[in-house]
Amino acid sequence: MNWDGTAVRKSLPIELPARLKLANLPTPLQPLNRISEHFSFPYGGPRIWVKRDDLTESGMSGNKLRKLEFVTAAATGQGCDTLITCGGLQSNHCRTTALVGARLGLQVQLLLRGGTSEEMDGNLLLDRLAGAAVAVYPAEEYQETLAECFKCWAEDYRSRGHRPFCIPTGASDGLGIWGYIAASRELMTDCLAYGFEPEHIVCATGSGGTQAGLTLGCHLLKTGCKVTGYAVCDNAAYFQAKVREDIRHWCALAGARVVTASLAVRVNENYIGPGYAQAERPVYQTIAEVASLEGLLLDPVYTGKAFHGLLQELKMGNYGGADNLVFVHTGGQFALFPYRQNFSFLGD
Ligand SMILES: *Cc1c(COP(=O)(O)O)cnc(C)c1O
Repeated sequence: MNWDGTAVRKSLPIELPARLKLANLPTPLQPLNRISEHFSFPYGGPRIWVKRDDLTESGMSGNKLRKLEFVTAAATGQGCDTLITCGGLQSNHCRTTALVGARLGLQVQLLLRGGTSEEMDGNLLLDRLAGAAVAVYPAEEYQETLAECFKCWAEDYRSRGHRPFCIPTGASDGLGIWGYIAASRELMTDCLAYGFEPEHIVCATGSGGTQAGLTLGCHLLKTGCKVTGYAVCDNAAYFQAKVREDIRHWCALAGARVVTASLAVRVNENYIGPGYAQAERPVYQTIAEVASLEGLLLDPVYTGKAFHGLLQELKMGNYGGADNLVFVHTGGQFALFPYRQNFSFLGD
């Protein structure tokens, strides 16, 4: 279907809030020709494209930077001088926040879920280089006391004369999802330049904000495009609720009305594997195959798992009949290194 033949809007019907320019936008949209020829066309599937949000910046690369453009504008707009956020030990979101804080001259306090190797590697090394303060909690304690920890740390910074701003997991809330509402418009403009409107957008979903932004953005732009999140940790029911919760929060902040019950929230929960940041060998094999076929680096926690799932669905013919599918590459490559032992098969 052609963009001009549809009622797709070329601009959002609502003004964007304050935003700091941190990401190098627009990111490239590229066709994956060999992936399409090997894994999609033989099964009647669409051309596969990749939106290179792994190229939003260098150290700050990935999807979190788009969200943080809006989050940090709110934080600095309120006169805050400290960012407090949380995530796994190898969190891309925490690493991005650490570097963004350094760039903006803000202090950063990270609350990290421990339990795995605490070696200074990958994102954790970059957190340290960026000068972020890091507090690591045992996994169980983190799970049970996260909300209290945020309160305690905010109080601690206030007592020392600072103005802290708390950012939730993955910056996924009604403020952060502006990043992917704006990205939806950018992506549709990219596709128009190539002369198509995609039938499908696919992304990895971890805290739900990227999917929420894309789902809402496509709805506001009146595209018929189907957004599917490939879950990497929690199940479909969890993300269906979380995406709608973020959109309701956005409505409250933006003073807008969207009937979230009528929004289709598509989640594929079949490729979570053993759990968050845990993947079986086929995921690592897909990462190696995509790197060697296309020169594209996926990560083991999010994009590798999601892309592996996408390839399986393509081979089952589940995207048959569509012409174009865009995979949003949300970044995460620094996590390749701390998971290096899972690539031992490369020596075989
Ligand atoms: C955080 C993250 C995701 C998931 O995005 P959410 O908005 O948290 O669902 C996907 N890919 C990478 C590389 C990430 O760091």
